[in-house]
Amino acid sequence: MIKDTFIKPDRETKLETKGGNYFVSNYPPFSFWNEEDLPCVESMLNSPTPGSAPMGIYYHVPFCRKRCHFCYFRVYTDKNSSEVRRYLSATMREFEKYADSPYLKGRMPKFVYFGGGTPSYLSAQQLTELTNRMKDIMPWSEAEEVTFECEPGTLSEKKLQAIKNFGVTRLSLGVENFNDHILETNGRAHRSKEVFNAFKYARSLGFENLNLDLIAGMLGETDGNWSDCIDRTIQLSPDCVTIYQMEVPFNTTIFKNMKEQGKISAPVADWPTKRRWVSEAFARLEEAGYTITSTCTAVKNPQKTKFIYRDRLWSGADMVALGVASFGHLGGIHYQNLTHFDQYCQAMEDGASTLRRALLTTQEERFIRELILQWKLGRVRPSYFLEKFGIQLHERFSSIFEIWKKSGDLIVGEDELVLSRDALLRVDSKLHELFLPQHRDSRYV
Ligand code: SF4
Repeated sequence: MIKDTFIKPDRETKLETKGGNYFVSNYPPFSFWNEEDLPCVESMLNSPTPGSAPMGIYYHVPFCRKRCHFCYFRVYTDKNSSEVRRYLSATMREFEKYADSPYLKGRMPKFVYFGGGTPSYLSAQQLTELTNRMKDIMPWSEAEEVTFECEPGTLSEKKLQAIKNFGVTRLSLGVENFNDHILETNGRAHRSKEVFNAFKYARSLGFENLNLDLIAGMLGETDGNWSDCIDRTIQLSPDCVTIYQMEVPFNTTIFKNMKEQGKISAPVADWPTKRRWVSEAFARLEEAGYTITSTCTAVKNPQKTKFIYRDRLWSGADMVALGVASFGHLGGIHYQNLTHFDQYCQAMEDGASTLRRALLTTQEERFIRELILQWKLGRVRPSYFLEKFGIQLHERFSSIFEIWKKSGDLIVGEDELVLSRDALLRVDSKLHELFLPQHRDSRYV
């Protein structure tokens, strides 16, 4: 229940939520990825296999029941069943092409990730057929984790059983909020009743790792409602809780409305408020026995509950990206697929390339990439970077770390650099300081 009034953006502090991406999700920035580097992907695929180097698969399902007002992904809400079938077969052709390449032949994925969009939009039968085909192309027997993102309103007991049967170990429920009015205001398709049902079924089926996503700062969020959301989360007791701070990228409905109304600030809480909400949630989760394991995650049992996809990706693993607009990384080359449905499917049907842009990274860029991504865990280990890249973090960033230390943001331990809780919650605003000079002025996500 909403107990108090809507939080207005803080104009005094100039820390309102404005349009644009705030979070750093990769490096170098996407604006540096280009068409000229596309042939590098092909030559990498034709180069000898790196043997047992870690590799994973990302599969993008671009369909959703409704488009959320804060969504900035490539998603479709209007595709009929024959278009869905067309997409599924295009992605499998794409996968066959990768699996046959000298670079990937014989390698087995260590992780598989179904993201979207809404992977759970697909029917139990579609999912079973799709994953059987995927395993024929590249067996999953060595996969340490299979993650599957769900929209609670698309889940039935039967579908969840199918998801469990094809090997999902980490089920991620996009709950975002427990208040039906807030869910409606933000354009979400599901309601809280569906969350409780989906959660109950998922628990009874015994998924190893059940994650629940929340967003701090949705349209209409209040102190009172946020506190209720944390109560309900703790009552459900998922293995992992992921809390995102709301950002308003340019291609969202919220931003479009702001532009039409000539507004610069988004009608959501300002950054200090959103951070306070995450901070309060983290404190409450800690009281309930959880451990904070990154800028956005709390886990009940850190010994048991891992997030292999994130940890592998953030330490430079190869990742084959399948599907429209997907992002992948092979042998130090970033790439992204074509971003339009027909273009992507047609390219695959014509036997043409589905790639849109790529970036051949330097060793130094790969070092910075891993460093900034690992900072999001709240702690980095200098010996890791010395061993892997031959770089002493203390020497390379001495002046920046000195400033962070003086401001209380950084605590230096033995072979460990740790961010304070306050710094962890605004880590993305600090990361650009570590970028190479040529990347500093660009939009970084
Ligand atoms: S469910 Fe997720 S991917 Fe689909 S529209 Fe909403 S935010 Fe976007």
